[in-house]
Amino acid sequence: MSYADFHRRSITDRDAFWAEQATLIDWHRPFTQVCDYSNPPFAKWFVGGQTNLCHNAVDRHVATRGAQNALIWVSTEVDKEVVYSFAELHAEVQRTAAMLLELGVKAGDRVLIYMPMIPEAVFAMLACTRIGALHSVVFGGFASVSLASRIDDAEPTVIVSADAGSRGGKVVAYKPLLDEAIRLAKHKPAKVLLVDRGLSPMERVAGRDVDYAPLRDRHMAAQVPCTWVESTHPSYTLYTSGTTGKPKGVQRDTGGYAVALAASMKHIFLGAPGETYFSTSDIGWVVGHSYIVYGPLIAGMATILYEGLPIRPDAGIWWSLVEKYKVTSMFSAPTAVRVLKKQDPAYLQKYDLSSLKALFLAGEPLDEPTAKWIAEAIGRPIVDNYWQTETGWPILTICNGVEPAPSKFGSPGKPVYGYDVKLIDENTGQELTGANQKGVVAIEGPLPPGCMQTVWRDDARFVNTYWKSIPGRLVYSTFDWGIRDEDGYFFILGRTDDVINVAGHRLGTREIEESISSHPAVAEVAVVGVADPLKGQVAMAFAVLKDPSKAATPADALKLEGEIMKTVDEQLGAVARPARVRFVTVLPKTRSGKLLRRAIQAVCEGRDPGDLTTIEDPSALQQVKDLIAQR
Ligand code: ATP
Ligand code: MG
Repeated sequence: MSYADFHRRSITDRDAFWAEQATLIDWHRPFTQVCDYSNPPFAKWFVGGQTNLCHNAVDRHVATRGAQNALIWVSTEVDKEVVYSFAELHAEVQRTAAMLLELGVKAGDRVLIYMPMIPEAVFAMLACTRIGALHSVVFGGFASVSLASRIDDAEPTVIVSADAGSRGGKVVAYKPLLDEAIRLAKHKPAKVLLVDRGLSPMERVAGRDVDYAPLRDRHMAAQVPCTWVESTHPSYTLYTSGTTGKPKGVQRDTGGYAVALAASMKHIFLGAPGETYFSTSDIGWVVGHSYIVYGPLIAGMATILYEGLPIRPDAGIWWSLVEKYKVTSMFSAPTAVRVLKKQDPAYLQKYDLSSLKALFLAGEPLDEPTAKWIAEAIGRPIVDNYWQTETGWPILTICNGVEPAPSKFGSPGKPVYGYDVKLIDENTGQELTGANQKGVVAIEGPLPPGCMQTVWRDDARFVNTYWKSIPGRLVYSTFDWGIRDEDGYFFILGRTDDVINVAGHRLGTREIEESISSHPAVAEVAVVGVADPLKGQVAMAFAVLKDPSKAATPADALKLEGEIMKTVDEQLGAVARPARVRFVTVLPKTRSGKLLRRAIQAVCEGRDPGDLTTIEDPSALQQVKDLIAQR
């Protein structure tokens, strides 16, 4: 079947299409209705069906592939490598489930997981879904205030944590941060389960804190059957990255999510049972949930859990794992590729990467120079994919598993099956149907299986934040701005609040950033719109140079600034020329690697930068502040 037909059928014959995909997972009780959209925008998938995520990820593989690799843990931080077969994973998850039960966790309870990238974190996630409890994974190393707000939102019965994480060989103690967060939070967990890695001394709170190892010892032979839950039973909550403001708590279901992931492994990620998947993300992000833990395991694949940096001991580390474990599908982010790009590609080329069907990238716009560099460095196909924490799996990509098709540089591809993607004119609210028209990327309801059910405990926020009516229907807004070319490929131009209006011309910050990045001296750049009394808004650019000494003196900086402006003039026209191009050594980003443009913009306009709980390096914003103060 052609991809166009496959996609069309997913929209026009929705229920039959998804009923077929639903056969990719095990059901304890069959569903009676594929999709209940009687109360839009809330969609219920596979109504009446009962299943379990952990069963689909682990138990169902034990009989057929029990001895095969399931979880491969590699830590370059503590120099350890441990491989768990499906049978071993099954045993560990049952032990952890028994531990959680003993600590009082019941179906429907929340368990907050604040952990480094260690196997126990994966056991804990799977143990939760096994017993019908919801996990809420909080990125390890988040500061106490961010953690406290998530504790109050999730109100967990139990928190699972560890003494410490490690980053670049430096121990990051978690326990003091956790203790402080619990002190700050209004809600107090009944128990805190602690993995002691021997990295950092821990003080235990009597009556509350429980050590993982001795408790596990008492449950070595644990047999905890999966709790069958309704397809619509929530499996977890997870926060968005906080790039545009306060993070939103996304609530996911069980059956729809399992089906969506199983289908995506086949149609998008080219995965098959017995193969190996390597996602370089973190379990604290949606990519970690969908494509480190659940997706690969549901597909009967081994998954690599990697603790460490991409360039330590050297830039060959990830690629050595591809060779060693014959990785077939790999998933990373442009931000990680930009880190590698500063290294010699010879490191990547030392290894046999022929097992790799493709490298999938998501999370941020994949600019052409970055895409070309990594494609040449590894000599394997690169597939961009565009999605959000909210959707849980790709919205736009090339579904090479359905019908192989070429990618276009700068485009994540076409609408994925199940997604009825529209472009909406921001001013009129009407759908744009022609080619090369710019609009807001939106999805007509119902959202396909696997997408968010609601905002955790806040249905009103879900409806009011995301859903808009266009004549006769409801659409979900992605808050990203895009364009569709004559071949149906989409291009993401940036976030809707990153659109700049210069003297009546609407410009995407991404267009200007791409133009500036094409200057050979520039490694990375952020462009924001700043209020201007004459023009409405002007573009301001903050660039990181490949070689900072190129702007060492004010005269050098001014010369380079002029050159970069000329590049933009030539490529986009003078209207897009930034008012200033300033040089910094690092850009403010979220811990998931996204540019915090709204914070830069606020600083430029002398406003409060807002919620910065997910910022990676606060000194990066200080550099911008200092430059603005000098003006
Ligand atoms: P918040 O919603 O809290 O402001 P966030 O949007 O950064 O944070 P995520 O869900 O982690 O949180 O990121 C999704 C966003 O990332 C998308 O809406 C889009 O802006 C961007 N994005 C993801 N993948 C791509 C891609 N392949 N190309 C372009 N942009 C992408
Ligand atoms: Mg978002």
